[in-house]
Amino acid sequence: MIHIDMDAFYASVEIRRRPELACQPVAVGGPARGRGVVAAANYVARQSGVRSAMPMAEAQRRCPGLVRLPVDMPHYMEVSRRIHAIFARYTPEIEPLSLDEAFLDVSASTRLFGSEADIARRIKDDVANELALVASVGVAPTKFVAKIASDVDKPDGFVVVAEDAVQVFLDPLPVSRLWGAGKVTQQALAGLGIGTIGQLRAQPETLLAERFGKLGRHLWALAHGRDPRPVVSDRRARSLSQETTFAEDIDAPAMLATCLAELTEQVAWRLRRQHLHAATVFIKVRFDDFRTVTRSVTLPQPVQDTATLLRAARRLLDTRIELARPVRLLGMGVSGLDDGRGGDRRQADLFATDDAVPAAPGVDEVGDAIKQRFGPAALRRGRALRRPEGGTGHKSKT
Ligand SMILES: [Mg+2]
Repeated sequence: MIHIDMDAFYASVEIRRRPELACQPVAVGGPARGRGVVAAANYVARQSGVRSAMPMAEAQRRCPGLVRLPVDMPHYMEVSRRIHAIFARYTPEIEPLSLDEAFLDVSASTRLFGSEADIARRIKDDVANELALVASVGVAPTKFVAKIASDVDKPDGFVVVAEDAVQVFLDPLPVSRLWGAGKVTQQALAGLGIGTIGQLRAQPETLLAERFGKLGRHLWALAHGRDPRPVVSDRRARSLSQETTFAEDIDAPAMLATCLAELTEQVAWRLRRQHLHAATVFIKVRFDDFRTVTRSVTLPQPVQDTATLLRAARRLLDTRIELARPVRLLGMGVSGLDDGRGGDRRQADLFATDDAVPAAPGVDEVGDAIKQRFGPAALRRGRALRRPEGGTGHKSKT
């Protein structure tokens, strides 16, 4: 299992075309006065305490010389496409987590290309040589360990955790590294004198199950390096989704709408790359009290264009969820995927509602082709890229 995560992706891509900024603190994101959020910061900026998903105003307070650049999503998508093209040389089993992060299962490719670690090294080198970008890479027996491995030595990390080294690797790490161990759980564990993964592993499973139920068993299994989840590539996925956790809870609807447009653009792009159409659109909202709601709508006919998907997602956000509390996480996804050979479902629907009106057929395909050919500035979609309200938060590791 390989996990690859580009270092400071948006910021690195911007600096690649403005090399004069390389030694300056750079943050990509929305403007401070528009309540913008840092989408990515380079490592110079991080030395001043600037972090992803931080309000831009706070970032500028911490780092007065900060150079702010607006988000150019089409360009990042184009670079992401090139990165994925490198992955695809070595395996078709690619599970993207975001534009700059993916799991790769290369177990069927080792005869051709060498060990997992060899393949990981080749991919890292290809990305550096051909795209002038730096990836951090983790190689491990499971997804959970591979993801930590790619992170522990960032930037420019390359960490291989062999099967018999998993425990030695995990034991000293804090329990916050365990997927599912949020702040409340960490505090409860601390109350039991459990701070590290090794300390958690030393407990009887029954104790954790009694105290934390299903989550306790899950954490205990992870602490033992057990994580049976396989790589699910987009071509085999039954659903595709993207989500963002904000560094600070968001209560501005316009900011959520901007973020939703960005998430939808990424999901639609992944659909089109796989030549898939989606019948169902869903959104997920987690509030500051951790209450999580999902809402979905099934379209009369499967689609893959951004405009139709966004219209459906917007309607869910605007009419089916009461935004009574600040929002901590926003997600958008699609399911009911078919490859266009599904037959009946793709025929024109007499009862088509607004949701299903195909928006200018072909526009997105043409758009994708233009982006590929002429690069970033060639085409922009209005709504996703207009950011008077500021950018969106992103997961803190970019
Ligand atoms: Mg990254």
